[in-house]
Amino acid sequence: MAEVLDGKKISTEIRQELAREVKEFTTHTSTEPKLAAILVGDDPASQVYVRNKERACAKVGILSQLHRLPSSTKESDLIGLINELNQDDTVHGILVQLPLPSHISQQNILDQINPYKDVDAFHPENVGLLAQGRPRFVPCTPHGCLQLLIRNGIKVSGMHVVVLGRSEIVGKPLAAMLAQRKLLYGDEFTNATVTICHSRTTNLPELTRQADILIAAIGHPKFVTAEMVKKGVVAIDVGINRIDDTLVGDLEFDSVEKKASYITPVPGGVGPMTITMLLKNTLVAAKLQRA
Ligand code: NDP
Repeated sequence: MAEVLDGKKISTEIRQELAREVKEFTTHTSTEPKLAAILVGDDPASQVYVRNKERACAKVGILSQLHRLPSSTKESDLIGLINELNQDDTVHGILVQLPLPSHISQQNILDQINPYKDVDAFHPENVGLLAQGRPRFVPCTPHGCLQLLIRNGIKVSGMHVVVLGRSEIVGKPLAAMLAQRKLLYGDEFTNATVTICHSRTTNLPELTRQADILIAAIGHPKFVTAEMVKKGVVAIDVGINRIDDTLVGDLEFDSVEKKASYITPVPGGVGPMTITMLLKNTLVAAKLQRA
């Protein structure tokens, strides 16, 4: 039976550390880190995410402000707001809650964010720095997964990591991070051999069965079953899928748990870690802007 990696517990630990760091930073600089979030439209899940992010900020002493815009907002008006926030010295981090309404180009919007305030690390400059192994910001969900491994002493060097999903937000940056020679933490938390799978991968179960560490980020409920993993696998579930009123991951938890050595639950695994890493990036942003 696998040991369950408790994302809530580790998040709490990291948030306590961050609260201390924020206090110290504010005392020394008389600057309170501030995150500005932009929510366009009224997608219920996005509203919950934004509310959770605001609450989490308050708990560690980070200020937050929410800009709610109607779904009919023009791309040019959204860009106007981002430019205002880019100029505002009291705002250190800017977050645009995704997805955006379909008439707005996500790429155009993310490109407008000042790269020093880009706490999601989606700006091409920050993507490039990460790819070169010298990140300014580490993207939140991949960083959350990495911290779950680090804080449980699960080394990745030399391991075969199979990542399911190649999105810009999760799969691609996470794969790049794990395959780096060096990143921010010890060499044992990089230097993995990484296989990336996606919807055109033909021999998926054959590949997933080779994984020492399997990270599922595809958005298909209970997609990965026990037959698709080898005994002793470390199984990290990024997926968040709503079935009726319940959240389930991309792993079939009950069967995979019996074969894995470690497994993350949904909810309570990667989810809280993602928000925690956003808080960390907001503090990093405030420090960079004071430097
Ligand atoms: P995307 O939809 O952007 O990407 C999904 C990826 O999965 C794509 O690369 C796609 O391949 C691949 N994929 C889809 N179907 C299959 C399949 N049958 N076999 C193999 N690969 C497949 O999703 P995200 O990366 O944004 O999110 C993935 C999941 O993670 C979602 O459930 C989302 O809600 C969750 N999530 C959770 C977060 C958290 O904090 N825990 C944060 C962000 C996301 P292709 O590229 O070929 O289309």
